[in-house]
Amino acid sequence: MLNKTLLEKLTSIRKVLHANPEISEQEFETQQRIIDFMEAESNAIVKKVGKTGVLATFNSTQTGPTVMIRGDIDALPILEVNTFEYKSKYEGVSHKCGHDGHTTILLGLSKVLTEKPISKGKVLLLFQPAEENGMGAEAVLKDNEFIKEEIDYVFALHNLPGYETHEIVTKENEFTGNVKSIILKITGKTAHAAEPEQGNNPSMAIAKIFEYADKITLNNPEEPNFFLMTPVYATLGDMAYGISAGYGEAHFTIRSWDTDLMDQRSEEIIAFMEQICKRYKLTPDISWTQVFQANINHPEAVEYIRNASRKCKLKLTERAYPFRWGEDFGVFTQRYKGAMFGVGAGKTTPALHNPDYDYPDEITESGIKMFYHIIKQIL
Ligand SMILES: [Zn+2]
Ligand SMILES: [Zn+2]
Repeated sequence: MLNKTLLEKLTSIRKVLHANPEISEQEFETQQRIIDFMEAESNAIVKKVGKTGVLATFNSTQTGPTVMIRGDIDALPILEVNTFEYKSKYEGVSHKCGHDGHTTILLGLSKVLTEKPISKGKVLLLFQPAEENGMGAEAVLKDNEFIKEEIDYVFALHNLPGYETHEIVTKENEFTGNVKSIILKITGKTAHAAEPEQGNNPSMAIAKIFEYADKITLNNPEEPNFFLMTPVYATLGDMAYGISAGYGEAHFTIRSWDTDLMDQRSEEIIAFMEQICKRYKLTPDISWTQVFQANINHPEAVEYIRNASRKCKLKLTERAYPFRWGEDFGVFTQRYKGAMFGVGAGKTTPALHNPDYDYPDEITESGIKMFYHIIKQIL
């Protein structure tokens, strides 16, 4: 299905993408590179979608289901420490989640779908922007080019450092957890540091909220009511030693497997923050950001993944509990029947988002074959 020449070509494209990373919502050059490749090498109908994404359509002559395969395309605001010749050209921006590889897998898949056309239905390849900041999937969903599609199945993969190279990893139901972040800004009143009682200092409220975060955390991933409230950032007052602080911020990221628990805890956290601020005569401003819905892997879709791994002769591991990271593919699996799976990126490959991480090109072939064999079962 994939000859050596094609795989070498894909590797060199992957390295071009790696050298030219763009962060979420800024993937303009990446988008153009994808369009150029698709127009030259595939018979897909290619359209821009979600501002910086691409939707490629492979039609057949017979009616049938529509299968969407999603690959994410954005990079991260992380300084690359690697020194190889295709290292990032842009200071402070790099592909540290392997989305350069995910993009390449979809480009390779487009070649296969062009050479071996589907016999019925339709395949959509979605090159999705802005996965890392949780904005991309929503932007695509709101795009008219996407709204008019009637989608039956959705699939996506993520490379997984820490797993054997090519190992397929999946799970029924929750595959990745719910993740979202909360920003608390507290306004009080400054006073002379000699007379703090004349002002309203947010320090005690912030301290109580940190304690609360620790108290409601249940950091046992094997428990169904697993819940994390992790402090990520805080600030208070200024380094002006005569002034009692009058303003502070505390930011947290919360995670759970269970969606109902997430909703319940979210309400409790807001209620607690409001109550504490009231007690200390402070004005809170609370907002949510970077919301990732849990990926729900439909059992039928997982069965296609199992069968595909057998076809590809790849080891299959089914996880006992979900991954802790958020993935905005959850926006799709909560609307359509579908599933996500992992492809092992090697036991010694640095973890995702680490400054020395690099996508291992040898797994591109496994990714393409997996998607192709999933599609073949449905169409
Ligand atoms: Zn990432
Ligand atoms: Zn990623």
